[in-house]
Amino acid sequence: MPTVFNWQLGRAMRYPYEQAASQEQFAFVININRCIGCQTCTMACKSTWTFSKGQEHMWWTNVETKPYGGYPQHWDVKILDLLEQANPGKQKWSGSPNGNPRSSYGTFAGKTVYESPEFVARTGQPNQVLGYLPTDEEWRFPNIHEDIPPAGQSKPMDFGQGEDASGSKKHRAWFYYLARLCNHCSYPACLAACPRTAIYKRPEDGIVLIDQSECRGYRKCVEACPYKKSMYRGTTRTSEKCIACYPRIEGQDPESDGVPLETRCMAACIGQVRMQGLVKVAADSTWVEDRQNPLYFLVHVAKVALPLYPQFGTEPNGYYIPPRWVPTKYLEQMFGPGVEQAVERYRNPDRELLAVLQLFRRSNQIISRYEIKEGPKVYEVMQHGKKFEMYNDTVIAYNRKGKEMFRTTVEEPVHVRAAAHANSI
Ligand code: SF4
Ligand code: SF4
Ligand code: SF4
Repeated sequence: MPTVFNWQLGRAMRYPYEQAASQEQFAFVININRCIGCQTCTMACKSTWTFSKGQEHMWWTNVETKPYGGYPQHWDVKILDLLEQANPGKQKWSGSPNGNPRSSYGTFAGKTVYESPEFVARTGQPNQVLGYLPTDEEWRFPNIHEDIPPAGQSKPMDFGQGEDASGSKKHRAWFYYLARLCNHCSYPACLAACPRTAIYKRPEDGIVLIDQSECRGYRKCVEACPYKKSMYRGTTRTSEKCIACYPRIEGQDPESDGVPLETRCMAACIGQVRMQGLVKVAADSTWVEDRQNPLYFLVHVAKVALPLYPQFGTEPNGYYIPPRWVPTKYLEQMFGPGVEQAVERYRNPDRELLAVLQLFRRSNQIISRYEIKEGPKVYEVMQHGKKFEMYNDTVIAYNRKGKEMFRTTVEEPVHVRAAAHANSI
């Protein structure tokens, strides 16, 4: 089996196909701290792409309540368990998060879904990817166990407080919303497992698609995708998945004026927690330095956004700003090493990070570049033992054509109505 380089793992890994990076890569960042679980994103996708007969159970994007929720149910627990069985006690990271873009999170010393052939031989799984096929019952609910926290209350409304390893105060009862869609992985497991080679990754933007005329519904992609984002449709006997709203990315949408637009689920986000874009990648799939691209800044400079289950080995292109109130150990299992630093940076943002966070959801167009015009200091406080200073900087966003899309300030302007207009519409 050939080897490819996976920068999220900090090492080469086995993959059924030769390295073949796209010119640009579809990617997104979701800020979990601000997601309100409203499911507007979920319905935006549903009402655009999956409203037809045979697609009733399909939620290409869904928002599930962690730790108990999952669509399909228990998807992450089940694949983590299979990996643990394949490599007992050794699914660990070595080293630590660092400034090297080829090993940002240290090195993963365990096995990915592509590196467990002994297990595959033992279980008789015919494909080359470790996985499982969910039952029909497991696909029934896009957000089962909504808003259910783990036990931790001794009496009603007693949420208690504990301390995690870093000494930060954490509630014992917690949950959070995990918004998910296909990660348009750099090394897709769905593509690797397809015996018909019906799945392909577009060379221009890295979007992963299923060719419906080639698919025969063997469901090997459903079985292999560790995120379970490929789904079977009984009425057509083919598998379907998120198409990254590619007409919008191509600038074909009538409202786009020829520049790339963010996808439907991103553009509809009420909580303003989603940002999606395109990043430049090198031949080995590492990100080419593009300092003023907001996604590059969040992932590689500020390092507040982390990949979802990087240990699976698909190099997912969905990144998350982890929630502040959740025990670190749980988050490290989900987002890898680097959680503590990411939470700390988000809790005490520096001047540039605070400005870039204002860019979320101010426009439907993809932001290619940002600039910051410095403003005056407007606030200072001690928080979590550190001095936090706020500057009213202006951040300016540019689209692919280099045209200014909008400018916004860190401090939201307040408009006070004149007394003459009180209570009038
Ligand atoms: S998330 Fe799953 S369906 Fe999407 S590209 Fe990755 S492996 Fe394929
Ligand atoms: S990117 Fe488009 S197709 Fe994919 S989940 Fe979002 S709305 Fe659906
Ligand atoms: S629309 Fe935004 S805030 Fe609402 S559930 Fe989706 S990601 Fe969360």
